[in-house]
Amino acid sequence: MRYDLPEFLAHAVALEQEATERYRELAEVMEAAGNEPVAEVFRDMSRYSALHRDDILARTDDMELPILRSWEYRWRVPPEVGEDFEPSAMASPYLALAYARGNEIRSMRYYQDVAKAATDAHVRHLAMEFANDESSHVEALDRWIARLRLIDPATVD
Ligand code: ZN
Repeated sequence: MRYDLPEFLAHAVALEQEATERYRELAEVMEAAGNEPVAEVFRDMSRYSALHRDDILARTDDMELPILRSWEYRWRVPPEVGEDFEPSAMASPYLALAYARGNEIRSMRYYQDVAKAATDAHVRHLAMEFANDESSHVEALDRWIARLRLIDPATVD
């Protein structure tokens, strides 16, 4: 994965946009399931992702960003949910958090790989910064998963 700056920024914008939408969906599912605390977590994550997306967009000035294929940035559904993904399949807060965590880890690794392969210092620097952001998202989700484990150990298997 060796990108020039516009290619890199296009991926980062697409990843944040995807996270914004998926987190909004998860928040709605948690709300419908009556789990307000976890809905609030996902609303916050959605808001941060949107802010980050806007932040990145602000750095693109009038660069022309390439169009990406959706498999390059779409979230992946955990195998236990199967092919026909319905957001309502995420009604278990643990499953929803684990789903989000899996995708945060994917984003984190993606940015780490880009940073490692980068020949452009600007791309490397941004990729390292974004990898750190993603790793703090993983930690936030881990704290919530640990909290759920305390409240109701049976849901976390
Ligand atoms: Zn993230």
